[in-house]
Amino acid sequence: MIQIGIIGGSGLYNVEGLKKIKEIAVRTPFGNPSDKIITGEIAGIKVGFLARHNRKHIFTPTEVPYKANIYALKKLGASVVLAFSAVGSLQEKFPPKTLVMPDQLIDKTTLRQNTFFGGGLVIHAPFAYPFCNCLQELLYKEAKKLKIKAASGATLVAMEGPAYSTKAESLFHKKMGFDLIGMTACPEAKLAREASLRFAQVCMVTDFDTWKEGEEVSVAKVNETMKYNEVCAKKLILAAVPLIAKTACCADCKKEMPDLKASHNKAVDKKVLKKLEVILKQKF
Ligand SMILES: [Zn+2]
Repeated sequence: MIQIGIIGGSGLYNVEGLKKIKEIAVRTPFGNPSDKIITGEIAGIKVGFLARHNRKHIFTPTEVPYKANIYALKKLGASVVLAFSAVGSLQEKFPPKTLVMPDQLIDKTTLRQNTFFGGGLVIHAPFAYPFCNCLQELLYKEAKKLKIKAASGATLVAMEGPAYSTKAESLFHKKMGFDLIGMTACPEAKLAREASLRFAQVCMVTDFDTWKEGEEVSVAKVNETMKYNEVCAKKLILAAVPLIAKTACCADCKKEMPDLKASHNKAVDKKVLKKLEVILKQKF
């Protein structure tokens, strides 16, 4: 059993310093997760690492099996998910090589299954605060202590991809006051919420998207930045995991968890409930 699930995105394919490493192939009613889950210990805390796009990077953001990923981490016992994603920045104040802990999310994806529910089972999870703000705060403070360039309180847009934004889209998002743009926080954060997992999101800024004149994205520059961000993310994981394991969520976070009692409706097909046993924390 693990306590904390870590999802690594582009530029983060493993965790350094893990002890007692095992690779586990987890099966779920939603198919296979992106990759085997690498379990191990950080300062005695059991964690499971999952490469979102697979360690061979074979899934586009649209193709990532989000439901299987969240289900698998929950099945292994995780109560917290720590998600890392490479993002573009829409604001000068979040330059490349910064780790940003956002507090809000805009969903502009169009081709993804974004819920575990349906088929007769109707549950509306609260999502006003998509990230666990206690954890965002903890991660921000810890990053600062480690002298990592960090920021908090940003709005992240999730776009479908895999192509990047046009200049007009980028300028539009910037003018709307959004701060960061990525491709995976939706439906990942939404599904984690439905699964009653505490969800933290660390955005690793790689570039200024496409809005900034003279700062157009170049592959070589982005790769160098990604390597830098990877080192920072790995340091942050080692330092934050023992702290996260010790902290419980505040009352505000607890209010955001879904009311799973709605699933007691007798009209719901047993097969639907059976498939969701892990998510609903009940046997059917
Ligand atoms: Zn919290």
